[in-house]
Formats: sequence, structure tokens, C-alpha cells
Amino acid sequence: MELHLASRSALQAAPSLAGQRPPPSPSLCIRNHTFKVPPLSYKGRSLIGCQASLATNYMETSELADLDWENLGFGFIQTDFMYTAKCGEDGIFSKGEVVPFGPIAMSPSAGVLNYGQGLFEGLKAYRKKDGSILLFRPEENAIRMRNGAERMCMPAPTIEHFLDAVKQVVLANKRWVPPTGKGSLYIRPLLMGSGAVLGLAPAPEYTFMIFVSPVGNYFKEGLAPINLIIEDNFHRAAPGGTGGVKTIGNYASVLKAQKIAKEKGYSDVLYLDAVHNKYLEEVSSCNIFIVKGNVISTPAIKGTILPGITRKSIVQVAQRNGFKVEERLVSVDELLEADEVFCTGTAVVVSPVGSITYLENRVEYGNQGIGVVSQQLYTSLTSLQMGDVEDCMGWTVQLDQ
Ligand SMILES: *Cc1c(COP(=O)(O)O)cnc(C)c1O
Repeated sequence: MELHLASRSALQAAPSLAGQRPPPSPSLCIRNHTFKVPPLSYKGRSLIGCQASLATNYMETSELADLDWENLGFGFIQTDFMYTAKCGEDGIFSKGEVVPFGPIAMSPSAGVLNYGQGLFEGLKAYRKKDGSILLFRPEENAIRMRNGAERMCMPAPTIEHFLDAVKQVVLANKRWVPPTGKGSLYIRPLLMGSGAVLGLAPAPEYTFMIFVSPVGNYFKEGLAPINLIIEDNFHRAAPGGTGGVKTIGNYASVLKAQKIAKEKGYSDVLYLDAVHNKYLEEVSSCNIFIVKGNVISTPAIKGTILPGITRKSIVQVAQRNGFKVEERLVSVDELLEADEVFCTGTAVVVSPVGSITYLENRVEYGNQGIGVVSQQLYTSLTSLQMGDVEDCMGWTVQLDQ
């Protein structure tokens, strides 16, 4: 993790997470050495400048940020504002506010840093052809954050609070929502134990934050089929564990296998269940589907599977398009016999799978091209998300400009 040391004014501008005061001078004392800390500025502006731009940015929103919109990937791009709210022992969150994007101050003893008491969410805002901005099923993310918080012993914002916060931070960063067809604004809500603990216990204070970043394709392949390798030594989740919630530690735990897979040229890892080592679970951060004839199958949500909102939406879209959808155990044998395979997630939307490698054997799908079913479902879902077709499902939320 990068450690940001901030000047006095910047520290005051950054929301203090553990309720502690900024140090009296912009220097950091470690034993007998005093390190001078260079002043940190938000793109060279003073705090007063930031507050002034907060007001002006809400008004002058028609101007797009100066970015290479043609070449967006899935890297972090800093935007103007973030959202932050806190709660103490009573579990009731403060109203919260949109503040300039910047580093946050937290006790080294914070629950999230020591014991991983943290959750994240991910959703997207799209720019419609008429210039308006659409959110896709944001209340589903609010509900999932509440369910995850329950598992991780954290209080969570109400659904109304979550929705209001997402809307505020997207509108404040409106100039970062990519033009139609160039990508989307990825919205990343976080919930973490920011209060200090020493012994293992729930933190006494929690922070709900949201930052955003314009994004294009998740996989460098773009819409081209990805190559997955089945992992049978590492597992992502175990029965009774936290695989079913978006808790931060789940993602640190899959980095190792992902790194090994990428070094061998694969796009990502497909995990099997920890008990039998033969039923499909998930790709590192996407749900998996197989297609055989007119039947689409995906692992049922049984604790070790993350209940993806894209997964749930694809199930409904597929049924409306006349497919039979089965949510059940899906074995590796079936996967290797499938006509098509694809994975889903907010970041990837629908990503066709071109090959699966299992125990040194490689099975290919769709002749290097995108399978017809994957393509059809991708088009159906994205045209809904981008507002190209009428939202007959009531899934999109339009922001008031
Ligand atoms: C976030 C996530 C997904 C996808 O969920 P969406 O709501 O569709 O974005 C799938 N699997 C895992 C492990 C995830 O973390």
C-alpha cells in the first residue's frame, strides 16, 4: 500500500477516519529523526481552491474531462470527488458528504487494516445517447452491501442512504462519465472498520466511502474470448466461509493463482469447489455460465458463490429470450462438453470464454469467435444498461442532471 504523507492543510481536507486530529505540524517524527514532508496539493490547488471548484463543478458539467476516451482500460483514473460518511458504536451513519478526492487518514490500529473488516461493491453509470446518465440496478448493490455487512459484523448504510450517496458522487464527477459507447463510470463503494482495535473485535467506528473511475474493457482482450485455466490446488471459498460476500480478503487470496495464470498467458483462473474439487465455482471476480443446446447453466448461489447482479440479470434476460436456465451444481466434465462458456460481472459484463485448460488439456469453444448465445446475451444486456432499448425490466435509474 502506498503511504501518503500530507501537509497540514491537506490532512485537514482529507476526512479523518479514526476521529484523530491532524498532527500539529507537517512533519513526521519517527524516533529521533524528523522527516520533512513535502506539501501535498490536489493538482496544485489549495484547499480553498478545491472548495471553490466543488461549487463550480456542480454547475459547469457539460464539459468532458480531458482524457483519451478511445483507449480506456480498467486502470484507476483519479477523478475530482469522493463521498464519505461515518458511524460510531450506535451504527447510525452521519449524513455524509462529497469531498475532493484524496488520501484518507486512519489509525494504524483500524479494524480494516489489521483484521480485514471491509467490504466493497461495484456498479456502473452509463452515458445515454441523449447525454443523460443511467445507473444499473444500484439498489441491488445496496442490498448486497447490507448482507455482506451482516456477515462481517459491520453496520451498513440504509438502501436510501447508499442510493443517495451513489447519485451525489456520480453527479459531482459527471465530467468523468465516458461518452456513449466509449465505456462507463465504474463506481466503487467501500465499507470498512475504521476505528481502532487491538484484540480481535468489531471496530468501534465504520466508514462508508465511494470513489469512481472511468473504465473501458476489463480484459485486455476486449470483447474477444478469454482463456481460462482451472485451478485445483488453490480454492477461492470454502463452505461456511465468506465466498458469498464481497469482502476484501477474498480478493487478496486469489492474487497468487491469478499471477501464476497470467505468467503462463491465461486471462484468469476458474475455481472448483473445495470439497469435491470437481464442481465449478467462479472466476476470480466473475460468475461462470455454460451453454448446451437451448439450456444455460450456472452454479447455484450456495454460500461459496458470489451473488452477482450481472448473473441475476443474465438469468432473467436469457429466460426472456427463450432459453431454459438451470441454477445447480455444474461439473468440470459438463464444462468440457459445453457448446459455449461465458462469464459475467459488472466489470466484464459478459465475457466469452475461448478456451479452458484443465490438467494440461485445453478445450476450445466457438472457433476463436464469440459464441452466438454469448453475443446475443451481451447485446441484450448492454442495450438495456446503456438505454438503447426501452427498459422493460425497470432496471435503470436515470440521474437528475
Ligand atoms: C463482484 C463479483 C462478481 C460479479 O458480481 P456483479 O454484481 O455481477 O458485478 C462475481 N464473482 C465475484 C467473486 C465477485 O466478487
